[in-house]
Amino acid sequence: MRKALVTGGSRGIGAAICRALARDGWQVYINYNKSKDKALALAEETGGTAVWADVSDRAAVAAMFETVGDVELLVNNAGVAHAELVQDLTDEVWRELYGVNIDGAFYCTRAAVPGMVRARRGCIINIASVCGVYGSSCEAAYASTKGAMISMTLSLYKELGPSGIRVNAIAPGVIVTDMLTDAFNDEEIAAMAAEAPLGRNGTPEDVAELAAFLASERASFITGQIIGCDGGFRV
Ligand code: NAP
Repeated sequence: MRKALVTGGSRGIGAAICRALARDGWQVYINYNKSKDKALALAEETGGTAVWADVSDRAAVAAMFETVGDVELLVNNAGVAHAELVQDLTDEVWRELYGVNIDGAFYCTRAAVPGMVRARRGCIINIASVCGVYGSSCEAAYASTKGAMISMTLSLYKELGPSGIRVNAIAPGVIVTDMLTDAFNDEEIAAMAAEAPLGRNGTPEDVAELAAFLASERASFITGQIIGCDGGFRV
């Protein structure tokens, strides 16, 4: 069975991606940090395996890859968000967002690539954001981590393509998960839906179906793309 590792697979978009990949026949490793019970329940549900690592911790990522071994698919999904005026942003918040969103994607990519190069086959999907493409007021830290993820994608597809590895990013718009409901109230979330040309916010499954497609053979000629999944929403 082909092995996939999804970071931040315990909840939200990552959990939906784990479900879609398991349905499509992948052996899924579900990375979690704090939500152990959710990851274990999802592993039970999907026949996958829950694996702990705080992705911002390079030693923890190395230990996770010791357990998991080589993977054919890596989905860098783990992420944290924060909204604040730039003059109020603390060093700690800035570092936390870069630690999880970018260092984490780098540590996991660095650990996954050698096995993919040996196999001359692999796929990396980075879960970025519309904020990384268009910017977002009061989200300089979050948006810039996602912008960095996009440039990492645009560099890696060139570097890794000759080794048979495809690298793409998904830029979700407003997706209803804990990340959204922790930051905005119902009224604000409804207002965002009204702003989207398709008239609704996204679901984790909307993003998961795109990820499952990009991971599949049906997308075997697709690399170096930043694909929006946003109902037409622009920040
Ligand atoms: P979420 O519901 O808050 O879930 C976040 C996931 O990331 C959880 O599984 C969490 O795991 C994991 N995570 C956080 N810190 C981690 C760490 N240090 N190490 C390992 N895992 C960690 O968020 P979501 O909405 O599903 O977001 C998933 C991705 O989509 C993120 O990269 C986010 O930036 C991106 N995105 C979301 C939206 C949106 O509107 N929701 C829009 C654009 C992009 P634990 O609970 O186990 O700690």
